[in-house]
Amino acid sequence: MKKLNFKRVLFIFNSWFVFFMLAAFVVTCCMTLFITVMSETLNITFTEENIAAAAKLTFGNVILISLLFTVIDAVRRRLMVDRPTKRITDAGNKITDGDFSVRIQPLSESYAYESFNSIIACFNKMAEELGSVETLRTDFIANVSHELKTPLAVMQNYGTMLQAPDLSEEKRIEYAKGITDNSRRLASLITNILKLNKLENQQIFPVSKRFDLSEQLCRSLLQFEEVWEKKGIDIETDIEYGIYISSDAELLGLVWNNLLSNAFKFTESGGTVSVSLSADSVCATVRITDTGCGISPETGAHIFEKFYQGDTSHAMQGNGLGLALVKRVVDIMRGEISVESEAGKGSTFTVKLKRGEDIEREKAD
Ligand code: ADP
Repeated sequence: MKKLNFKRVLFIFNSWFVFFMLAAFVVTCCMTLFITVMSETLNITFTEENIAAAAKLTFGNVILISLLFTVIDAVRRRLMVDRPTKRITDAGNKITDGDFSVRIQPLSESYAYESFNSIIACFNKMAEELGSVETLRTDFIANVSHELKTPLAVMQNYGTMLQAPDLSEEKRIEYAKGITDNSRRLASLITNILKLNKLENQQIFPVSKRFDLSEQLCRSLLQFEEVWEKKGIDIETDIEYGIYISSDAELLGLVWNNLLSNAFKFTESGGTVSVSLSADSVCATVRITDTGCGISPETGAHIFEKFYQGDTSHAMQGNGLGLALVKRVVDIMRGEISVESEAGKGSTFTVKLKRGEDIEREKAD
């Protein structure tokens, strides 16, 4: 505290000294000019005594003027610099204490406050961003805890029921299957959370390699053969043959798997799932269409959010992370994803990807 006061005194003395030097310089110049003009034009001669008396008086005046300037400067500084700075630092301290709701009122629109107002606008934006990140973080923790608790509780119940002594073979198999299904769900949830976390923290760097996208799509589709046969879903394909792309095949595989698994999950027996792939020299476009339950505009606004599940009747078959992962991967690849859907009629997910430099160069050659 003492050190701070000393600094302040030193600062005031410094300001006073600068004003003193300035005033002394200006007054000396004026005096010299005055004496020269008076003695040359009006032939007035100044005695040494006159000059010494005037110099003493002027010196006193210069000290007074510089003191007055110092006071005016201190008041100006207090009002125009210290006060806004204090507002900003107080708000900064509140943010440090975890209060992200704090906002600073802009100062008056005078030009003098322009810089402070832009700092304040920047600060308010930062506080808003931090607030939404904090909300996302707490929501994320709440969602993860909820998603972890549900399968664990189900497994616990099945475990307890399995301990009953007079259990039929059929029931025993059913409960054991319940435990296996839920542990699988838990494992997939944790894998998805870890993947998403890595993707969001940029810990996964896409490895670009040239590969056959047509073949990858067909393979991904074939993985669901058992599902579409079991549910009696028709498959339509319009996959252009031999479309090569320079991208990360593993990450893209994740995209097709999630989109196809949703298409089959939300399509009832007798429905159709169509997959198409077309390309020009720059982009490849994949469309996955289903005749399932469709997505309402209200649901559509949230489907790419983490843990969002619009259709709760299939909640047990997913964890609301699939499309968040898909979106993140497509963003990393600098592609585009869009969805067209009508509730009750079906949905089309379209993914547009750049084919990569190699292919563009090949075409140019
Ligand atoms: P989940 O794994 O729970 O399906 P997703 O992130 O993959 O989570 O999907 C989020 C929500 O988007 C789903 O709960 C569903 O409401 C909606 N959705 C996604 N794909 C489709 C689709 N093909 N048809 C209808 N609704 C869909």
